[in-house]
Parts: sequence; structure tokens; C-alpha cells
Amino acid sequence: MTFLTTLRAGSSDWFDPRGREQQLKEYAGLLNQLIWKRQTSFLAAVVLAAAYFDTLVALLCYVFVLFTEFLDERLGRFARSWDGEDPVMGRRILRRIAFNTVLSAIGVCSFVISIAIQQTSGGHFTPLFILFSASLFAAMYNSQILSILILRLSIYLAGFVFVAFLDVFRYAPPLKSTVWLEFFTIIFVIYFLIDISWKFYLGYRRNLEQMKLVEKEAELARAALAVKSQFVSVVSHELRTPLTSIKGSIDLINSGAVGELPQKARSLLEIAGRNSHRLALLIDDLLDLQKMEAGEMSFRFEPLDVHATIHEAIESTSGFATKLGIHVQTELEAPGCTIMGDRNRLVQALQNLLSNAMKFSNEGGTVTVSARPIGSRVRVSVRDRGVGIPEGAEDRVFGKFTQVDSSEKRKVGGTGLGLNITKQIAERHDATIEYESELGTGTVFYMEFNRVTGSEAPEEVPVRPQPARLTVASAVGTQ
Ligand code: ADP
Repeated sequence: MTFLTTLRAGSSDWFDPRGREQQLKEYAGLLNQLIWKRQTSFLAAVVLAAAYFDTLVALLCYVFVLFTEFLDERLGRFARSWDGEDPVMGRRILRRIAFNTVLSAIGVCSFVISIAIQQTSGGHFTPLFILFSASLFAAMYNSQILSILILRLSIYLAGFVFVAFLDVFRYAPPLKSTVWLEFFTIIFVIYFLIDISWKFYLGYRRNLEQMKLVEKEAELARAALAVKSQFVSVVSHELRTPLTSIKGSIDLINSGAVGELPQKARSLLEIAGRNSHRLALLIDDLLDLQKMEAGEMSFRFEPLDVHATIHEAIESTSGFATKLGIHVQTELEAPGCTIMGDRNRLVQALQNLLSNAMKFSNEGGTVTVSARPIGSRVRVSVRDRGVGIPEGAEDRVFGKFTQVDSSEKRKVGGTGLGLNITKQIAERHDATIEYESELGTGTVFYMEFNRVTGSEAPEEVPVRPQPARLTVASAVGTQ
């Protein structure tokens, strides 16, 4: 990128209101943030100057610089309050920044020049070093607005030139003298400062462009997510309605309500019934996921008895347990233990854990559900003695549409959504969900909730019993 194109890009950015707002605010923000850093360095320089040179002049310079800091502080607050919309205000802020820059740069230069004038021998290391530090500081932290950076550096460079020529004019030394050596070194330092300022400015611009790119990408991703959510929601709803009537009709035929069917037709319709049920559960999972992602899933929190909630989840999966020949047992401690939760969602989460434990158990196996208080929390666990989960599979276990084992080996199918939804439900309850497993021995999934103690427990809200639905598509076998 050439100097001119960069300059042009910088100025076109300035006319883009969002870029202008960002640059102004970053500039003003840094101005205020770095106040102590600037002040400490300057105070140290003033103390040195007061000790070795004219104290009064040093103090006067310090008061002047303090005054410019005060102006900067007020300017910072003013700039932060700008919403980036009103260009007149933007220009006013820029003018004030320019004014403050000129004042503070003149303050620093006057200080430096006053020291240089008082030094009559031994070169000007101290004033030059102070000026060098101030220029480097500007190059590092004032790259947001190029015109302001140039303004400040020009004043500092004028200070450098003054100090460079001071002894040349004062003593008119021969070219061999070290005065000239100092002069040429200063010219070199000036070149170095201009170069480094330019590099810092380019770095800042690159960052700005990358930020813009990231912002744009994030916007695109947000838009794509919104479209995807909408799409899933519309498709799921459009599928759900006709599917409900198909499933209802098949169930009616299977129940024998429309008369006896030939054996062949009956077994075909049973397959159709199971698969339509499975499809309905998959769509429910998709809808739940979409609602969770869009933050539209509503939770109705109320005090819940842990044991009652567990019993309800076991009850609603009893058909599935019978079908797979699984025995479910409970080990429930701390009767009367209460948590705040959404009853239907918690039952749904427990159903997911239970149906998984049943699916991945061997036929005739036992699944144990337990509740145990641990300090101020209560741990609800679902243990099976089934196939187990290999190490390092957490991402697949809790991921979306991900499964640990390959689908060909399973006796029952699944969507890979159940535990993801369960985890999100747990998170909404400030609960944790984890598992421990050993291949071939079994798995225990546990969720930990905060218990509601007597004094915290809100008055019991009468709960209207509603059938909690079993949402795990995987809970039903495939054909
Ligand atoms: P799925 O619909 O496939 O059951 P889940 O999200 O409920 O989806 O579970 C994700 C994966 O985690 C399952 O496919 C399975 O591989 C593994 N998994 C979950 N629970 C168990 C368990 N109790 N025993 C063994 N593997 C399990």
C-alpha cells in the first residue's frame, strides 16, 4: 500500500460515520486511559529538570502540561458521549482534539527547549530523550486519527530541529566537532521516528480493517442463523401438522377401530406407526432446539419436589423400559428435597437420560436412578450397566446431531439431539450435567441442582399436572 493510497483510505474512513465514531472514541478513550502513564513520565522529567535546571521554569511547564491534561480529560468525556450521528458535533470534537494536541505538544516542546537552552555543555541527551519518548508515545497511541498524529509529531519534530540547530548556531563549530555529530544523529532519529510512526499507523489501519471484516462476517453469520432458525421452525411446523393426522389415522387403524386387517397389512401399518411416531419426536426435538437457540423457549420456574419429578420421568418412560426389557430401580435420599425448576422441562431432561440409559443397556439390564444431597446441592444420577462411552467423546455426547457409536451397530436409533437439549435445559436451571463411563461396564449421567432451603423456598405454587412428552426421537426403535 503506498503512502498516498493509505492516506486516502484513512481520510475516506473519516467520512464514514461509523469509522469516524470508532476512531474518535478510541482516541479519546486512550487519551484518558493513559493519563497516569503520561503523568508519571512527565513528573519524573520535571523533578529531574527542577533538580538540575531552573526550578521555576520546570514547574511552570508542569502546570501548563497539567492544564492540557485537564482539557483532555474533559474532551474525553465529551467524545464518549457522542453517538456518531451528528457530523457537526464530530467536527467540533475533532477541532477540540486538534486544539488540545497543539497546546500539549507546545507544552512538552517548551519544557524540552527550556532545558536545552539552559544546557551549555555536554550535549542535549536529557531534552532529546524526553522528546524522543514523547514522540514514540504519540506514534504508539495516537494512530487513530492520522491528521492529529501528524500535527503532534510536526510540533515535536520542530522541537528536535530547534535543539539540533541550537548548538550549531550557538557555537558555529567546525564540521569535525561533536556538535555536528549530534546534529546528524538527531536527523537520523527524526527519520526513525517518522518511519516508526508510519508503521504504527499502518498496523492500526490493518487492525481496523480486520475488525470491520470480522464485524461483517459476524453480521452475515447472524443473518444466516436467523434464516436457518426461521427455516427449521417453518419446515418443522409444516411437517408437524400433516404428520399428526397421518399418525392419528395409522394409530386408529392399528387399534382395530376400522375393522380387522389382513396380517401383512397390519405388520406394514405397525412399521408405519412406529416410524411416524419417531418422525414426530424428531420434529419435536428440532423445534425445541430451534426455540432454545432463538432464546424463545419459555421456562416456568416453581418449587419442585425432586423425588416426585424423578418418579414422573420414570413413569413416562415405563413403556419404553418394558419394551426393551429393562428394570428401573431407585435409590432416593433426602425426601422432601426441593429445587426451583420447570417441571415439564426437567422431566424431559430426565426422560432423555433414562431413555439413553435403557437404549444402551443390554436386554434385561437394570437402570438405577438416584438422588443424593451434596452440601447445598442435590445430585440426580441415572446409571446403566450397558455399553459405556469411550474416553474423550464428550463433544459427541453433548453435540448436536452427533453420536458416539456408528448407527449400523445400534439396536435403537437416535438423532443425536437429546443430550444437547438436556444440557441446555440444565444450564437454564443453573445446573451442571456430567457423566462417568467405562466401556463395557456402564455409564452414569448426573445433574446437580441448587437445593431450595426452607427460608428461600417461595410459597408452593399449585402445579397443574400436564403430561410431559417424551421428546427423544431416539427413544423409539427404527425399522
Ligand atoms: P441419541 O439420540 O443418539 O441418543 P443423545 O444426544 O441422547 O442422542 O446422545 C448422544 C450420544 O451419546 C448417543 O448417540 C450415544 O452414542 C451416547 N450416549 C448417550 N447416553 C449414553 C449411555 N447411557 N450409554 C452409552 N452411550 C450413550
